[in-house]
Amino acid sequence: MEVRRPCRIMILVNPQSGRGQALQLFTGHIQGMLTEASVPYTLVITEHQNHARELVRKADLSQWDALVILSGDGLLFEVINGLMDREDWQEAIQIPLGILPGGSGNALAASVHHYSQSPPAWNEELLLSCGFMLCKGLVGPLDLVSVHLASKQRLFSFLSLAWGFVADVDIESEKYRHVGAIRFLMGTLVRLASLRVYQGRLAYLPVKEIESDTKTRAPVDSLLPDLEQPVPDTWTVVKEEDFVLVLAIYQSHLAEDLWTVPGAMADDGLIHLFYVTAGISRPALLRLFLAMEKGGHLACGCPHLVYEKVKALRLEPITPQGMITVDGEVVEYGPVQAQIHPGIESCVSIQELHPSEDPAFVSTSGPGPPKTEKAGSARL
Ligand code: ADP
Ligand code: MG
Repeated sequence: MEVRRPCRIMILVNPQSGRGQALQLFTGHIQGMLTEASVPYTLVITEHQNHARELVRKADLSQWDALVILSGDGLLFEVINGLMDREDWQEAIQIPLGILPGGSGNALAASVHHYSQSPPAWNEELLLSCGFMLCKGLVGPLDLVSVHLASKQRLFSFLSLAWGFVADVDIESEKYRHVGAIRFLMGTLVRLASLRVYQGRLAYLPVKEIESDTKTRAPVDSLLPDLEQPVPDTWTVVKEEDFVLVLAIYQSHLAEDLWTVPGAMADDGLIHLFYVTAGISRPALLRLFLAMEKGGHLACGCPHLVYEKVKALRLEPITPQGMITVDGEVVEYGPVQAQIHPGIESCVSIQELHPSEDPAFVSTSGPGPPKTEKAGSARL
């Protein structure tokens, strides 16, 4: 393990995220922790949407050992895309990123906490756990997914690509952001009342279990044909065209209390593709989301829910209007395709943590199974 001290971190805060209390969360919970751990930091408060993206695009990254965001997933999406906008993106994307949950949608923070084998935590307890992990400064790899839109724009995504029910709930519930993470449950109940079917075509490249992962540093989308070209014969074309939702997710959690992919790891090189076909009843759909809190939705025996592990996918909506989200942010509606790039990003504190062996974690963690140290891990 490489030790570099002192590390200098830039902490980007979105004061509008969540209940609008991200700054108070910093002064109330994180500031003291960083001082105690002698971690030098600079606080940057974003003034508008895409402020962080512009800042990161131009920043002198040699000044920083890590970029940390205190917000929801949306601000991290800005930071990752700001890094990938740079001419030196190959180097830039290797800067460790950290996440402190301060938004209403804190899926990556919940996932990172889960990978550390700590028992589930919410709200301020989750923030404290992520703060501890940040102070420890261990870094592990994180998969990124490149997403192509009809306008030829390419985005980088660390969490999800969603269409239909999940995307609608995410965006429609933003107006309840002030209630925090429970906005998704409220949004789910509202959307259930006006359940819709979305027509479209879905195809994907399945993962063969024997395939070995080739880790690549350069995100060339070798698996994707042009969006106007048909998908290759090696792809699976889904027969159904009537969906309630399509969700591609590459972390364990879709929200603090939605454990969507029980087996997911930050760098498993997989897109976990879920879709729900039309014909599902409202109670059955609600049951799936309620079961997801404990990761039990796949055991519900719901014939409308399909789960596949894939490397790439394409979605072509036929329904003329609707919502597509990437990491919870709205993107242009239309054909979209995506492929995974295993482990090209570095994320602060994930697999390498051994919470059960660390006195700092005794109060918040259970024993958990033993873990093996990964090669290539580094301290900040
Ligand atoms: P939440 O989880 O509450 O949705 P996010 O971090 O996802 O919090 O941020 C919500 C949105 O706010 C994102 O689209 C992000 O790009 C945007 N944003 C970032 N900084 C600001 C700011 N200073 N003012 C307004 N919006 C911002
Ligand atoms: Mg958000």
